[in-house]
Amino acid sequence: MEKLKCLIIGSGPAGYTAAIYAARAGLKPVVYAGPEPGGQLMLTTEVENFPGYPEGVQGPQMMEDFKKQAEKVGTEVRHEVITKVDFSGKKHMAVTEMGHEIEADSVIIATGASAKWLGLESEKRLMNKGVSACAVCDGFFFRKQDVILVGAGDTACEEATYLSKIVNKVYMVVRRDEMRASKIMQQRVMDTSNIEVLWNSEIKEIVGEEFVEGVKLLNNKTGAVSDLNVTAVFVAIGHKPNTDLFRSFIELDDQGYIVTDKISTKTNVEGVFACGDVQDKIYRQAVTAAGTGCMAALDSERYLGEKGL
Ligand code: NDP
Repeated sequence: MEKLKCLIIGSGPAGYTAAIYAARAGLKPVVYAGPEPGGQLMLTTEVENFPGYPEGVQGPQMMEDFKKQAEKVGTEVRHEVITKVDFSGKKHMAVTEMGHEIEADSVIIATGASAKWLGLESEKRLMNKGVSACAVCDGFFFRKQDVILVGAGDTACEEATYLSKIVNKVYMVVRRDEMRASKIMQQRVMDTSNIEVLWNSEIKEIVGEEFVEGVKLLNNKTGAVSDLNVTAVFVAIGHKPNTDLFRSFIELDDQGYIVTDKISTKTNVEGVFACGDVQDKIYRQAVTAAGTGCMAALDSERYLGEKGL
């Protein structure tokens, strides 16, 4: 059984930032990179909104930079997956897919969330070529153009409103005749002149070879199919937090996100902290994930100090 002071599960901006701080505090952190090393940024191209990169940076390059920096200050990064945890005792246990057993004084969970997709072949093919799950990240690339956004929750309303300030027109595809979003968010959408809501509608196909050129829309009430010219498709149909592994031990909210103490990254289990998208369904930005990663490392360091570990 290997003993660690600080085990970090997940290798997105939150996990690596936690690692940088924990390593510099002498906690000798070990990061388990997990099934999708680098997290959601590995699926993006240009990142223009992370401070410190005035020329922008490719998402995968940025994650390589995060990893290098974490390793430089003394983090060990292991390209393995944690498949089991047990947080029921005083010491926190974890087991890797290879059966390696770890006992950790503190654990930082940074396993992120995964965007839900429509599941179309054309959506996969045109990913990052006009198909995006993040309006805040990618809206800027389509300024003054016509775009379409799918979804009817608070995220979809927020993203449609955000996009409306940048692009020429936003078509918002809602599959039912009502929205799930809160009334105030819906009202904001209705009050915006360049957002057109397409009720009872679904995207059947995204059209384009090298980049998005349009969509085929189905009206699920009438069965009519129509073509619409747009240069981007934003999918805002929700995220799934990667918390299945922790379900038996850590308090989750009704959507599966880890519940953390309001002004810290503490979970309901002493010595276990959570940061990044696994506990944030509102902001979901690389920079906010990195910020909470820093908080988790500081919380962990303080906890270990208080316990004399
Ligand atoms: P939600 O799960 O709330 O909404 C998802 C939306 O996507 C629903 O309208 C759903 O439609 C639709 N949808 C799901 N699958 C498909 C599909 N295959 N095709 C078309 N439409 C689909 O997710 P959100 O990300 O919007 O919100 C998650 C949580 O975060 C919520 O609790 C929300 O309130 C919160 N949030 C709060 C914000 C704020 O307060 N500022 C901002 C953003 C999020 P249907 O309704 O028909 O099921």
